[in-house]
Amino acid sequence: MKTSYDVLIIGTGIAGLSAALALPKSLNVLLISKDYAWECNTFYAQGGVAVARDDADVALHVKDTLEAGAGHCNLEAVKVLCSEGSLAISRLIERGFLFDADEAGNLLYTKEAAHSTNRILHAGGDATGRYIHLFLMQQLPFPILYNTQVTDLLIEKNECFGARVFHNNKTFNLYAKKVIIASGGVGSLYEYHTNARTISADMQGICLSHGIKLDDMEMMQFHPTVFVLGKSVRKQLLSESLRGEGAMVVDEDGKRFTFEYDPRGELAPRDVVSRAIFKHKQKTGKEIFLDLSAFSPEHFKERFPSIYFNMNNMGYAVPTQRVPISPAFHYSMGGIKTDLHGHVLHVKDLYAVGECAHTGVHGANRLASNSLLEGLVFSARVAKEIVQTIEQEKARHLFVEEEEELIKENDKVLKNELRDLMWCYAGILRDQEGLKKACKRVEEMLQLPIGKLLKLRLLVSKEIITSALKREESLGAHYLTERK
Ligand SMILES: Cc1cc2nc3c(=O)[nH]c(=O)nc-3n(C[C@H](O)[C@H](O)[C@H](O)COP(=O)(O)OP(=O)(O)OC[C@H]3O[C@@H](n4cnc5c(N)ncnc54)[C@H](O)[C@@H]3O)c2cc1C
Repeated sequence: MKTSYDVLIIGTGIAGLSAALALPKSLNVLLISKDYAWECNTFYAQGGVAVARDDADVALHVKDTLEAGAGHCNLEAVKVLCSEGSLAISRLIERGFLFDADEAGNLLYTKEAAHSTNRILHAGGDATGRYIHLFLMQQLPFPILYNTQVTDLLIEKNECFGARVFHNNKTFNLYAKKVIIASGGVGSLYEYHTNARTISADMQGICLSHGIKLDDMEMMQFHPTVFVLGKSVRKQLLSESLRGEGAMVVDEDGKRFTFEYDPRGELAPRDVVSRAIFKHKQKTGKEIFLDLSAFSPEHFKERFPSIYFNMNNMGYAVPTQRVPISPAFHYSMGGIKTDLHGHVLHVKDLYAVGECAHTGVHGANRLASNSLLEGLVFSARVAKEIVQTIEQEKARHLFVEEEEELIKENDKVLKNELRDLMWCYAGILRDQEGLKKACKRVEEMLQLPIGKLLKLRLLVSKEIITSALKREESLGAHYLTERK
């Protein structure tokens, strides 16, 4: 196998695949996927892709994104997302991708929470991510190295030369002129989450171990409507578009209580609805449900086929039967700090894009369906930057091929303790006392004889906790309470 490439792309979600597709075929590109290519958050995305419907809607999309982000967004990044969004969607459609449309071929747009207009495109009803992923995979001109975990970046004197990988029980180095991290979020750090099993913050941890800055790591988004009772580690999401199209959040008495917490009720931003559910449950001890009775069975089955299939499989006759819900961890607004071309600050030839990256576009709370769009828009920018700056030759700096032990005997027990700790103390509601307690325990765990992969999780958890401790006022998804 070759060990030297022009571009190495870590991750095969929307960000990694679209970056690859935007690079010239003449380049020598390798993508690395920790598992099967589809075991990523992109594949599980349901609701759709937000996009400004016309020039007039760009300013409104910017406004909605800034408002959801609680004034914490980077305005320039938001302008890039909203103004370059329609070009990114047009490129996808020109390649042959089919979003859901009516019989006359007009695109169908739906609405989601905190969007002031219907601007969400979808595909396969509620299988947008799966359809886009399959489409991008079919178009891909470059090879993917599957079942391969990146365990380190090859960085010397603030320059990246490639990545160290673990594949088929062997550790080896892959060298490249340019490296793109497109490794997604941090879901597996939390006990209850909606994320793919591959999403465990490895690359964020590797960046921290090299002194690379992560930003806004206290900003973790919890999705309000998740079916958490199933046995799988990844919990079943009940898409935001259900609420956009009429689903109601009720307690066990059928009371629509979210209006007591915000005048926008179920259509308030995600963090607001998540806290309303969490607090109402705490206050009343009542179970919370998603009531789908606004949908006729025929329409529901056609519009939300995946949710219909999955919930029926788990014994819920939707839409007639209501579904018990809880908030669960969903999305990381924080990430590896980059400029607006995806360049990781202060490290030559290293880029980050998609959910792992932080441009400041989501601020303190991501607007629904803005992240698939982020993957499309910013990956095109990264690819453009790479084409403009890639050198004919890059002096190869050789690195040892040894790696620390990745997993040790007691790691699983500690990993589960960490997930519980993060859920309880760095979750939906936080307080200084709980955060300090979690920080102390994470520091203790870091001193134990543990494998490298757990160490990376701990480093990122510590970063989330310490960022939360530093932000002493509530903002967006970071919400502080007084401990009772
Ligand atoms: C259930 C669900 C529903 C969602 N619905 C929507 C929606 O409707 N609209 C929307 O805009 N957003 C939605 N989101 C969010 C959105 O799907 C993600 O933010 C987006 O897909 C992230 O894309 P990505 O390419 O950055 O990462 P991912 O798609 O998560 O891909 C990450 C890739 O990195 C690889 N990887 C990770 N670590 C390593 C490593 N160490 N070595 C090698 N490879 C590695 C993984 O294997 C994977 O291939 C949803 C998310 C979830 C979980």
